[in-house]
Amino acid sequence: MTNQNVVVSDAKSSMKVAVAIAAMSNQSLFPPAVPKPPASSAGRFIRRKPVKKLETQGGPTKINAWVDSMRASSPAKSPPSSPEHDSWMVTHPSALEMFDEITKASKGKKIVMFLDYDGTLSPIVQDPDRAFMSDEMRAAVKAVARYFPTAIVSGRGKDKVHDFVKLKELYYAGSHGMDIEGPAHGTNDKSVVCQPASEFLPMINQVYKKLVVKTQFIEGAKVESNKFCLSVHFRCVEEKKWAELAELVKEVLSDYPKLKMNYGRKVLEIKPTIKWDKGKALEFLLEALGYANSKDVLPIYIGDDKTDEDAFKVLRKKKQGFGILVSKFPKETSAAYTLQDPSEVMCFLQRMVEWKQISQRGYYRT
Ligand SMILES: [Mg+2]
Repeated sequence: MTNQNVVVSDAKSSMKVAVAIAAMSNQSLFPPAVPKPPASSAGRFIRRKPVKKLETQGGPTKINAWVDSMRASSPAKSPPSSPEHDSWMVTHPSALEMFDEITKASKGKKIVMFLDYDGTLSPIVQDPDRAFMSDEMRAAVKAVARYFPTAIVSGRGKDKVHDFVKLKELYYAGSHGMDIEGPAHGTNDKSVVCQPASEFLPMINQVYKKLVVKTQFIEGAKVESNKFCLSVHFRCVEEKKWAELAELVKEVLSDYPKLKMNYGRKVLEIKPTIKWDKGKALEFLLEALGYANSKDVLPIYIGDDKTDEDAFKVLRKKKQGFGILVSKFPKETSAAYTLQDPSEVMCFLQRMVEWKQISQRGYYRT
């Protein structure tokens, strides 16, 4: 990785970004071999047929562990009135109910908003190409960005998520934060650009083509190129076909030890093995905004997926700001608060704007 991947418009910021990149380069670029799948989820997997084992550079790995994790990516749902849900809401209360606490914590600090896209600003839909956000949600995000620096942090390709959101005043961190761009302040000006995985681009394109060919006969499977990473969607694939799909993906990846795979919501996420994720993107953006190691900032990160947990963990570790998980159902999370769905996210964003407007008029005493 070289500094050529990072461009910052002004000299002051260049220094900050150089520090970020130095920190990145201290980390191993190629952690060992193909990652092992997560542990099975409490024996819920029922083996339906003999499963073929595959040898990879990481040693023998059973495909059923992959399927188990694919199933675990949509955890069992507890009804909203269940004791499990109630106790989860005690430890992870609603961000709307805790709104006053959140705004009180921001006293004397600059709030910076980080927003995931799918399942946070837009509903989860069958066809990932049709995950449109509503005009009302767009207006809420636009209003929030008028008062607080706002970034969209998504697993999608940066340009694709930009096309969905359609707001030029935001920061966009696509490809799980591996493709960051700030708002342009003038013609040909890009204030912040960071592409730590650019050297993987040819490899990612090659794997994309292979996966498209390999998975073409699995009905409902969809391979999506997100520029620096790939998604294999299985939301529309019959569950009895998951093992076959996992086998095909595993076969392709066995030739690429510099790529790793994670599980999202009904999606297999394939990324370079560099230590870069949504949490690193959050840290990079805070640094680029001039808030590296600053106590005068309150980052709020809202997201619904496993990949957002990296950002929640950063906030928890820094003891700064709040992670807000979007979920109707109990999940293991490092987020402090929860919102049920995108409509509650919109409500939260609208309240943030209202609160800021009122406090600017001097009526709000916090
Ligand atoms: Mg999401």
